[in-house]
Amino acid sequence: MKSSSDQKAVILVVDDLQENLYFLEELLKIEQYKVLCAFNGEEAFSMIEKEIPDLILMDLFMPKITGIEVCKILKSNPKFLEIPIIFLTASHETSHLIQAFDAGAADYITKPFNLPELFARVRTHLELKMTRDQLKEALEEQQKLTQKLEKLATIDSLTEIANRRYFLDLANKELQRSQRYGQEFSLLMLDLDYFKTVNDSYGHSIGDQVLKKMTETTIHCLRNVDIFGRLGGEEFAILLPETCTNQAQYVAERIRQNIEQISVYIQDFFVKITVSIGISIYHQGDEKIEDILKRADRALYQAKAQGRNRVIIDKD
Ligand code: GH3
Ligand code: MG
Ligand code: MG
Repeated sequence: MKSSSDQKAVILVVDDLQENLYFLEELLKIEQYKVLCAFNGEEAFSMIEKEIPDLILMDLFMPKITGIEVCKILKSNPKFLEIPIIFLTASHETSHLIQAFDAGAADYITKPFNLPELFARVRTHLELKMTRDQLKEALEEQQKLTQKLEKLATIDSLTEIANRRYFLDLANKELQRSQRYGQEFSLLMLDLDYFKTVNDSYGHSIGDQVLKKMTETTIHCLRNVDIFGRLGGEEFAILLPETCTNQAQYVAERIRQNIEQISVYIQDFFVKITVSIGISIYHQGDEKIEDILKRADRALYQAKAQGRNRVIIDKD
């Protein structure tokens, strides 16, 4: 809101009587406000579209669209909802004020005006609007910050997939669902082969790019319902809900082949990578997700021992 000394608050005055309008315009200008004038509701709408005022002073009764109707229309539009509207009313019209407040009016001032009262009400409503605007801004800032913190707490910053903790949270929920409804699911553990060599040969930041590329490639092989997380370092886990051994093997094999086919082009070199994948299936009786992870890890270890770049299913 334009209320600081270098930016004047903008007040729109709407009245069908020219003398009222000019009288208020002059007075408010002396008080250092920027004043916009409209003779009727339609003019008021077109002015508001061009410049949103900080406050509206509006005659209650005007031909064609009444002040109350203008007020209702403005209050139904989120863009203009926050503008305080003060009605100008002859004292015998006060019975209509209930309608004005129902329509969303902030206040009213009776004609003939008591000037100190008029200025006091204008000032108060401008200050209230400024406080509301500041609170809204602070709240929006806080919401953005909270979202950022939530993201930091759940998402791995390099690969932008679930971090270890968030993966385990989601996987535990899936485990509970399976325990309750007797559904099966599969768990894949995936580890890059000889990744240390990539880092040693090309440097850590290129290693990072390889990790990102490998993550993107894997995501393309997955469904929306699958849960993909980075357990740490170059070790990843994927939970495939409602997926049996054969289907899991098919998915894992597709991931392995897709990664084998990618090459990351860096400094005149094509860096090729492969992955080893261990698969385990949820058994009735598995109490913790760690039990299933342990079996997938065992299968992964076998994949490494048998020469890497392969998929092994845990037989238990
Ligand atoms: P293996 O086939 O047995 O898995 O061999 P490996 O070299 O992949 O495994 P090892 O555990 O010996 O090394 C893992 C490497 O992964 C070492 C570590 O520096 C690297 N690494 C872990 N996290 C990151 C990361 O965030 N960025 C990069 N660039 N490297 C990482
Ligand atoms: Mg009138
Ligand atoms: Mg490795």
